[in-house]
Amino acid sequence: MEAREKIVIVGGGFAGLQLAKALNNKRKKVMVIDRVNHHMFQPLFYQVACGRIEPSNISFPFRKIFQRSRNVQFRLSNVEQIIPAQNKIITSDAEYTYDKLILATGCRTNFFGNEKMESLTYGMKTTQEAIAIRNNVLLTFEKLISERRRTDDGNWNVVIVGSGPTGVELAGAFAEMKKDILPRDYPHMNFEDLKIILISSTETPLGTMSEEAQAKSDQYLQELGVDFLRGEMVTDYDGDRVSMQSGKSIASNNVIWAAGVTGNIVDGLDPTIIVRNRFKTDRYNRVLGYENIFAIGDIAYMETPKYPQAHPQVANVAINQGKVLAKNLLKKSTSDWTEYEYVDRGSMATIGKYRAVVDLPNLKFQGLLAWYFWMFLHLMLILSVRNKIAIFFNWMWSYINKDSSLRLIIIPTKKNNTEQ
Ligand SMILES: Cc1cc2nc3c(=O)[nH]c(=O)nc-3n(C[C@H](O)[C@H](O)[C@H](O)COP(=O)(O)OP(=O)(O)OC[C@H]3O[C@@H](n4cnc5c(N)ncnc54)[C@H](O)[C@@H]3O)c2cc1C
Repeated sequence: MEAREKIVIVGGGFAGLQLAKALNNKRKKVMVIDRVNHHMFQPLFYQVACGRIEPSNISFPFRKIFQRSRNVQFRLSNVEQIIPAQNKIITSDAEYTYDKLILATGCRTNFFGNEKMESLTYGMKTTQEAIAIRNNVLLTFEKLISERRRTDDGNWNVVIVGSGPTGVELAGAFAEMKKDILPRDYPHMNFEDLKIILISSTETPLGTMSEEAQAKSDQYLQELGVDFLRGEMVTDYDGDRVSMQSGKSIASNNVIWAAGVTGNIVDGLDPTIIVRNRFKTDRYNRVLGYENIFAIGDIAYMETPKYPQAHPQVANVAINQGKVLAKNLLKKSTSDWTEYEYVDRGSMATIGKYRAVVDLPNLKFQGLLAWYFWMFLHLMLILSVRNKIAIFFNWMWSYINKDSSLRLIIIPTKKNNTEQ
């Protein structure tokens, strides 16, 4: 009998997981390697960061997902090097050979080379980082109250840099936390002084969405009391003060960096096929110059007539590239392969309770209906019925009671014999 083809998928995000699921129980040997042991639903990280949902509701262990699989294996490891001439990859723990290699490594926060910013501000690209934001914000209040420090020196301010969907959603959620939750938890503190500040180099929030969405989200941020600093470039941060190009500066011990992402490149491939830190591919997601190496999702740079500057780095592209590649890999001949074509189904963002903006290809709407639409779609996208129900009840509880009980400060204990 012919040996089964061995497909190694690096990264179990939206793209890698979709591909692995589509190859599940098919006549292929599949190995998913990821440096975390769970798939992460990144669009709801901001709700973990502000204590609205539990991390476990949006994190799905790979071993559980593939518990009953006959052909998909999982390895927890960081892939460090590709040796294409030997069809081999080197990870932090082992070496694996492959017949076909799929790179689905996604992105990390882009600090634009600013090491100080990287070490002192918080990114939001992993569940751990979302928990770290929650810990840091809550710890700030705890320290203030214990140390009986003044609250008007601004150190407890929450500053978010970047006004894309992540920044805007985070600002809205923290503004609601300030209004509804914190005064009840810390009744002796005056939260009037606490500022939620959103800094953006653009003049309006949600720069990639329609003008209607931009104008409405601007209005929503104002209604929620978020200070939106427009047209400002952050230049420095020393752990206490954020400085801007205009000369302005703001005090804060809680700075969240949501100003961009950059690809997780794995070393070993021809550097000339790396464009803007993404691997350049053909329309079948095959990395240029390599017959058996593919890139899908955020890490793929595919130029098409409709998208000459490559596709946006969004979940929809990642999921569909995973699906199309799976279909292609299961076909007998490459001459039957289908080219990938992105169908933009729109974008949306929510800015607190009852406020959201939705841009569909032929319809734009905002407000309550948009908010319900946003909730419904996100619930549908969440893996597992149990998590859908858990999130639904958490949301209902917190929106009806204007409260949530998910404010644990959990900091892992470090032991000498464990790696964190
Ligand atoms: C906070 C936030 C909110 C977002 N909101 C939205 C939204 O509302 N709508 C939308 O469409 N998109 C949204 N996005 C973008 C969306 O999440 C990405 O486009 C999508 O996750 C890309 O999928 P991917 O599979 O390419 O990469 P990812 O989902 O990022 O997965 C990459 C995986 O690879 C693993 N990995 C990386 N490097 C290695 C390595 N060297 N070795 C082993 N494993 C590795 C990572 O651990 C990760 O599991 C958001 C992103 C963020 C961060």
